Amino acid sequence: MIYDYLIVGAGIAGLYAALNIPSNKKTLILAKDPLWECNTFYAQGGIATAVDSDDVALHIEDTLKAGAGLCNREAVEILSRNSIAVIEDLLARGFEFDTDEKGNLLFTKEAAHSRARILHAGGDATGRELHRFLLQQTEATVLEGVVVIDLLIEDDIAYGVCVRQGAREFTIYAKNISIASGGIGSLYEYHTNAKMISADLQGIAAMRGLPLKDMEFTQFHPTVFVYNTRARKYLLTEALRGEGATVVDERGERFLFEYDPRGELAPRDIVSRAIYRHQKKGHKVYLNFSAFNEEFFKKRFPTIYRNFQNLGFNVPKEQVPISPAFHFIMGGIATDTWGRVEGMQNLYAIGEVACTGVHGANRLASNSLLEGLVFSKRAVEDSLINEFSYTPKEFAIEKRQLVKSEDAKFKSLLRKTMWEKVGIIRKPSELQEAKDIVTQIANKPIGYLLRLRLASALAIIEAAIARKKSVGAHYIEEEGGV
Ligand SMILES: Cc1cc2nc3c(=O)[nH]c(=O)nc-3n(C[C@H](O)[C@H](O)[C@H](O)COP(=O)(O)OP(=O)(O)OC[C@H]3O[C@@H](n4cnc5c(N)ncnc54)[C@H](O)[C@@H]3O)c2cc1C
Repeated sequence: MIYDYLIVGAGIAGLYAALNIPSNKKTLILAKDPLWECNTFYAQGGIATAVDSDDVALHIEDTLKAGAGLCNREAVEILSRNSIAVIEDLLARGFEFDTDEKGNLLFTKEAAHSRARILHAGGDATGRELHRFLLQQTEATVLEGVVVIDLLIEDDIAYGVCVRQGAREFTIYAKNISIASGGIGSLYEYHTNAKMISADLQGIAAMRGLPLKDMEFTQFHPTVFVYNTRARKYLLTEALRGEGATVVDERGERFLFEYDPRGELAPRDIVSRAIYRHQKKGHKVYLNFSAFNEEFFKKRFPTIYRNFQNLGFNVPKEQVPISPAFHFIMGGIATDTWGRVEGMQNLYAIGEVACTGVHGANRLASNSLLEGLVFSKRAVEDSLINEFSYTPKEFAIEKRQLVKSEDAKFKSLLRKTMWEKVGIIRKPSELQEAKDIVTQIANKPIGYLLRLRLASALAIIEAAIARKKSVGAHYIEEEGGV
């Protein structure tokens, strides 16, 4: 069977794309296992939107400023101009953002936004609520536990994908393919991402010669509880600082002001670097919630309240030790502003896996859920306007061993290397060392899935080596510094 649409990924980008596909089209969504294990599910703070048409210009300005001059202005304008319509669409479909007693939408403020324009749901469970809602709405067939391991591409046409389900490998064909497989969190030792987010499709893109762009721009979230044993570390949303939480050291000093006059409300990369440097000087760093009363905290941040109470922290009375951790990648598979992969006719990339240039060198907080909505809708619109005439073609499944015995050991080495040498503060010599380590691992007898991770990591490292000057989230320090 040949599907009309095949979507790789069931996060916000994949699910919202599916909602915009006419119901007479055969649409299949593929996701890893379990279905909820995606970054969308874990998004806490909310979704940015222009509050009204008067706010569009300011939202654009804030986004461009955060992107440090490297945004694609057209993409940013599209993002903001379409924000009100996609939010209205969600509301019309019945999604409930948090409101006040009179039913007015509640907007909050996050770092580097000039005004309160972040909508949230379930307090701090915006992603979980959105994910559940979009899954309920979809009429497409959703298959979980199916891992895409290759794209079936010839010239500028994508014919389908090769997948693994359990021990089986098989091909699936479709007239239009959208990659919505999210970011790269599992490449780093400390990260906030869902465990399954492991840069598979960025790796396939690199191996198949599809263009990757802005891969050096990786964002580190400043306030993460990294002391749990799970792969995914617990994020403490930016909205906490927006609403009064402070960053202090073991002496109770709000040291961020030593690094930037905006203190807690400086952009994330500045706050991350300040915390990182302060830690390197031997300090311990905490997020302090004394500005909140318990009732408010419990209602506004119920997930954080529950999770941290379960971890043994009496929040908001007790402060929580924090550290920065990898969070989001601005770069990805290069697309135009319709989500179409550069150089391809019927292949789209949407959401975090894509690079339209909308984030430039640094993402403005809460613009990524919005990106997932706006650009996935546009990708579907483009595919409907420019209907692709598809001639079926069959591909043989390549013989390759997906996993080998020593992969786990090399995966850990990769994660450590990325964290230590391709992290918050980068040095030219360490980037080169990281490249050498990745190349050495690639020369070992390793499984194909690990090769995909290595290909993604190499794309990040090479882009970081090529960008000699600090900009946005990419921070290069001369030898001898911290
Ligand atoms: C803890 C946390 C908090 C965040 N908070 C916010 C926030 O408040 N506001 C905001 O705007 N952004 C936030 N972000 C970022 C935002 O959540 C993500 O950028 C966004 O959800 C990405 O959506 P997506 O649809 O592109 O990918 P995801 O939601 O990550 O979904 C990826 C999908 O691809 C599937 N997949 C991956 N690889 C394969 C494969 N090989 N084969 C088959 N399927 C595959 C996965 O199973 C999953 O279904 C947060 C991120 C994290 C981690």
